[in-house]
Amino acid sequence: MKIAVLPGDGIGTEIVAQAVKVLEALRKDGEKIELEYAHIGGAGYDAAGDPLPEATLKLSKESDAVLLGAVGGYQYDTLARPLRPEQGLLRIRKGLGLFANLRPARVYPELVNASTLRAEVVSGLDILILRELTGDIYFGQPRGIRTLDSGERQGFDTMHYSESEVRRIAHVGYQIALKRNKKLCSVDKANVLDTSMFWREIVTEVAKEYPQVETSHMYVDNAAMQLVRFPKQFDVILTGNIFGDILSDEASMLTGSIGMLPSASLDSNNKGLYEPSHGSAPDIAGKDIANPLATILSVAMMMQYTFGRADVSQRIETAVHKVLHQGLRTGDIFEAGMQKIGCSAMGDAVVKAL
Ligand code: NAD
Repeated sequence: MKIAVLPGDGIGTEIVAQAVKVLEALRKDGEKIELEYAHIGGAGYDAAGDPLPEATLKLSKESDAVLLGAVGGYQYDTLARPLRPEQGLLRIRKGLGLFANLRPARVYPELVNASTLRAEVVSGLDILILRELTGDIYFGQPRGIRTLDSGERQGFDTMHYSESEVRRIAHVGYQIALKRNKKLCSVDKANVLDTSMFWREIVTEVAKEYPQVETSHMYVDNAAMQLVRFPKQFDVILTGNIFGDILSDEASMLTGSIGMLPSASLDSNNKGLYEPSHGSAPDIAGKDIANPLATILSVAMMMQYTFGRADVSQRIETAVHKVLHQGLRTGDIFEAGMQKIGCSAMGDAVVKAL
């Protein structure tokens, strides 16, 4: 398993160090794991004047998987747009052809009170949002700001999805559903948008190849409502780039704890980039108080999706579960009666539980 490690900025270095402890523990147990580090984001700019240095992209292409911390920091906010840390992230996703973004939202029994929703609504929640990441209105041309004949200015974007793009992401969705609870809900706006009507037509066709999976279709406005009304009705939610952007953030907050949420972005060969769903948290960087569990759980996803090692993935998840059960908490998920520990101590606790 050749893994490129890109800690990035802010808490990125601290949380990735804990995930690396887990990988090293697995290596001691006999797993063949090879790690190589490179810079991305502000760290890439500092080291090579580029948020995605050429060497970083090269290493990432040569690796089986990429483990990323987070990018961004106040000191980079005044840089010209192409030099900003986030550009490193957009460019690496594009450079690696990562079109499928997986964001699970799972509520651990020990953290059920962290959600702003009532415990009975979210307890036991385990859903996965699959967002198409490289198409849709975010990338459609033409786009811009123009002046109409009337002299009025107008902003415009173009939404489109080609058949191959929809088929490709739908197959990923069904493959994932097969390994979960065999339910897939495709979310669109087919009552208004032609792009969505086409999306639904193609998903319906692909669905015929997966009779074991129960397929449903839902309009995005209803899906936004159902996610807070009765989220446990979902298993896999399959959707396009813009709807997925919004719904995955909504779903992440069902769990109430941003420090617990992993994510994966995959290409067509299951090569992937794995990162926590949160950012670089400059407000708490360097204090050893960040929650490393989202990053450690991202390694669990890497084992499952890129390396096909459900056993190792399960082992990591069980270790995380055990640590929570022991009452160990970082500040972001702390509640009275629990034991507050730092980022590094949390990494050590997971390794011990492993
Ligand atoms: P953020 O996710 O970094 O932080 C939001 C809040 O959550 C902060 O109060 C932070 O302290 C807290 N938080 C986040 N992760 C945590 C963790 N693991 N443990 C404990 N608390 C945690 O979002 P933001 O403040 O909007 O952005 C900060 C920087 O991160 C910006 O430069 C932004 O561009 C960047 N960002 C990067 C990514 C990424 O790398 N994928 C994603 C979002 C934002």
